[in-house]
Amino acid sequence: MHVMDMPLLSLLERLARLVHSESHAAGLKPVQWDILRFLAQANRFSRTPSGLTAYLGQTKGTVSQSLKALEDKGLVEKHPQPGDKRGVDVRLSTAGRAMLTQDPLAAFMGGLDGFGLEDRQTLEALLSRYLTGLLTARQGRMFGECRQCRFFQASASQGPYFCGLLKQALSEEDSRDRCVEFELIC
Ligand code: SF4
Repeated sequence: MHVMDMPLLSLLERLARLVHSESHAAGLKPVQWDILRFLAQANRFSRTPSGLTAYLGQTKGTVSQSLKALEDKGLVEKHPQPGDKRGVDVRLSTAGRAMLTQDPLAAFMGGLDGFGLEDRQTLEALLSRYLTGLLTARQGRMFGECRQCRFFQASASQGPYFCGLLKQALSEEDSRDRCVEFELIC
């Protein structure tokens, strides 16, 4: 089949190009915006250089350079991981959180205003299924929401919740964050 015979592929490709071209804003490159967005949603097990590398699908060197540029701008901070002197916990600074209010991708949400709630939910569900299929085929990480993960458990004695994989108590806030170790409930 010729690429021009695939209207859906063509739509996705044009959409991706449009998003990418408009993601240079406030002196930041698209990958730097991706990092800020990731850090705003990722849980404490995922806010690491290796978590970012897995999420972005880029080399360690590229991620490290981008992090350094964001650190120099005062938008991210590196802290030691509790209980692991060599581990790094990468967090948004106050300025990084404020920068996200200028996220250029927010303008794309306005384009969905004409859709009803049901259409938006259907579109989200279809794209999510499609992305999950692509990631599964490529052994990619899904970075889903913790409370949708197969290891997520309610726990009366530890947190309100508990991670069956990492054996850690989880707070209400943790349960809404995204995680590098996420696995979909089968
Ligand atoms: S329950 Fe799943 S998503 Fe949540 S912290 Fe554990 S592995 Fe990560």
